Parts: sequence; C-alpha cells; structure tokens
Amino acid sequence: MQDKSRITILGATGSIGTNTLDVIARNADRYEVYALTAFRRIDVLFDQCCRFKPRFAVIPDRKLAVDLQDRLRVHGINTKVLSGEQGLVEIATDDGSDTVMAAIVGAAGLLPTLAAAAAGKKILLANKESLVMSGPLFMTIVRESGAQLLPIDSEHNAIFQCLPSGNVTQQVKKLLLTASGGPLLREPMDRLQSVTPEQACAHPNWRMGRKISVDSATMMNKGLELIEASLLFDISAAQLEVVIHPESIIHSMVEYIDGSVLAQMGQPDMRTPIAYGLAWPERIESGVPFLDLVKVATLNFEQVDLNRFPCLKLAMDVVARQNSGESAVLNAANEIAVQAFLDELIRFTDIPIVVEKVLEQMGPVSAHTIEEVLALDANARRLAAQRVGS
Ligand code: NDP
Repeated sequence: MQDKSRITILGATGSIGTNTLDVIARNADRYEVYALTAFRRIDVLFDQCCRFKPRFAVIPDRKLAVDLQDRLRVHGINTKVLSGEQGLVEIATDDGSDTVMAAIVGAAGLLPTLAAAAAGKKILLANKESLVMSGPLFMTIVRESGAQLLPIDSEHNAIFQCLPSGNVTQQVKKLLLTASGGPLLREPMDRLQSVTPEQACAHPNWRMGRKISVDSATMMNKGLELIEASLLFDISAAQLEVVIHPESIIHSMVEYIDGSVLAQMGQPDMRTPIAYGLAWPERIESGVPFLDLVKVATLNFEQVDLNRFPCLKLAMDVVARQNSGESAVLNAANEIAVQAFLDELIRFTDIPIVVEKVLEQMGPVSAHTIEEVLALDANARRLAAQRVGS
C-alpha cells in the first residue's frame, strides 16, 4: 500500500478549506491531514481538529491560539497550536507535509504560499491573489525549488485538464475563460449603484467566501484570473479571451491551432478541481453529483460587456501592459475597495473607480523582489484607504 499523502490546508475554515476536507474525508485511505490554519473562526477550527486530528493547527492571533490549545487539551486532542504570522510560514514549509492547499483569502496568503513554493512543496493554488501580486517572482521560485504548482481555480484547473503535458503553447491559439457573469449580469445599469453586499454576494451558481463573491459580481475575479492564466500558462494577453457562460457547466476551454476546442465540463462544485489537484495525475471520487446533460439541455455563450464590468477592463489593460508591479497595485486597491463596499463605506459602482484612481496615482511600477512587492502592496492599500475613508 502506498504511503498516505500528508496535507496542510492554509485557510482550512473557509469555503475552499472545508471543501478540501470533505474530499480528503472521502479518500481517507490516500490522505491524512497534517496541519490546518484559520484566522478568526476558532469554533470551526476546533471542530475540524476534533474530527481530523492534525499534528498542528495555526491561528495568527496569540490569544485565540491559547484558547484553542486549552480547548483541545480538555478534549484530549493532541494537536499542537502555533500562532503568529510566522506560524503560518513555518507550517507551510514544515517537512512533515508534502502538499499545501493555499486557500487563505487575499494578500494574507502571499508569504506562506511563497514559503511553500520555496520549500518545493506540491502546491494546490486557490489563493490567486498571491500569484497575481508576486507574478513572475512566484513562478521563478516554483521553477528553482522544483515545487509543483497545480491550479485549483476552476477555470485554470479546466485549462490544465485540457492541455496535454509538456510545453505546447505554440500549438494553442487561445485560452477561453468562461464566466457566469455573476449575480448582476442582468441588473439594469442604473440600479448597479444601489446594489447591497447581500445582492453582490448572492452568486447564482457558486457558494464562496464574501471577497471572491464580490469579485465575481464586479468581474474583477475574472480579471485576476486572466493575470493568473497569463502567468501559469505563459501565454500573452492576445491569446486570452473571456466568454460569458451563465450556466457555469463549461469551466474553461483551450482552442488549438487546428481548430479543435477542448472544454472541461462538470457541476459548479469546487470539489472537482480540488480532487483533481489532490490526486493528479490520477482521479479520485469527489462527492460531486454527476452531470445530467439532458437536464442541463442548453449551454449559452455571450460576449462580455466591458461597460457593465469596468473592473474586468482595468485588469485586461494590466495584463496587456505586462507589468507585474501593476498587478500587485490592482490587487491591493481592489481588496481595500471590496472590504469598504462590504462595510458599506462605498457603493458597488465605486469599486472600479477606487482601483482605477490608485492605478493612475501609482503610475508604471515594477517589483523584482518580495520586499518590493510588499512595498507596492502597502502603498496601494494606503492610497485606496484614503479614497474609501477607512
Ligand atoms: P473564505 O473567506 O471562505 O476563507 C478564507 C480563509 O482564509 C479562512 O480560513 C480564513 O480564516 C482565512 N483567513 C482570512 N484572513 C486571513 C488572514 N489575515 N490570515 C490568515 N488566514 C486568513 O475564502 P474562500 O475559501 O472563498 O477563498 C479562498 C481563496 O480561494 C481566495 O483566494 C479565493 O479567491 C480562492 N478561490 C475560491 C473559490 C471558491 O469557490 N470559494 C474558487 C476559486 C478560488 P477564518 O475562517 O478563521 O476567518
């Protein structure tokens, strides 16, 4: 019998984290949980520790970490709780695990994800923001350390499934990223400014965390995904296209120079890409119901309207300019603007304005080291925070 793969989940209490644990539980003969991390939801982390009995748990906040350790001790669970930002980096590089699911949301995932890459781990990358921020630097670290980077975002996972192994980008005409269009695809334009956080987070097809839900409503999520795709698959902006596909059944496509288009289909359920990432190059059961094509009956496609989705246009321009520093600025300004919208400090339609103004204020920028990336990120956050009054 083969050894079990030992998994660390950064961001275990979130939507991707809990789906990952669900897939692991269905395949307990192949995987064991080595470490789990969370930020605030210690009740959820406590339940996960009781069920999966990881060797380590990490909570950045020291007081919450002590509380969790005490509760686990009382219940006879031997999980050791680490704390501090450094705890996340330590656990991401720990020799005890071979695979790291990077599922912290936003820039907070950058340092542990990069650390896992530098340590040569198999990385299941859900935290797209870390790649968007650090761009070519991230890819260089992966190459030099021999880490294995497997995309979990359903679009990139679909493209990965449609690309044969080896460098075939000369044979690829285009990568077609599908987008549902989110909950506001048909909302009258004059009502967009009064959209509430609840409306923006009510995605028709996917259940996700609040930040990525708002990103889906503005389509900044698709913009971040374009940046992610250009880096992961080393492909130019001209070879990337977004197609609206409201049913979210085709998760993305690859068009080849001979006219063939390969698509990956399935239910809109993140357990499929997670299972593929965990087991690659094999396949395992994910718990996702099988696709009933007769029930689906029709698949629709439309062109994206960039007037409705100015965030996507901003990101497309950043990809076209091929400036990795600008990606970090775009990401940071967007994180601040989205949080301000969720906190009801700004309107939904202010999100692209904040991002555009910060991009303009910072101008052409570049970052070649992690320190430079962090400095750009901090600057962009400061400028965005001034604009939203947070
Ligand atoms: P959630 O908000 O559901 O979960 C985020 C996780 O990160 C939680 O475990 C949270 O802990 C933890 N976290 C939040 N802030 C910090 C911080 N400052 N330091 C350390 N940990 C932190 O997000 P999702 O699961 O939806 O998304 C995770 C990532 O995956 C994002 O980058 C997203 O873009 C990407 N993704 C998500 C998809 C989805 O379907 N959800 C699809 C494709 C990509 P706590 O719960 O304790 O607050």
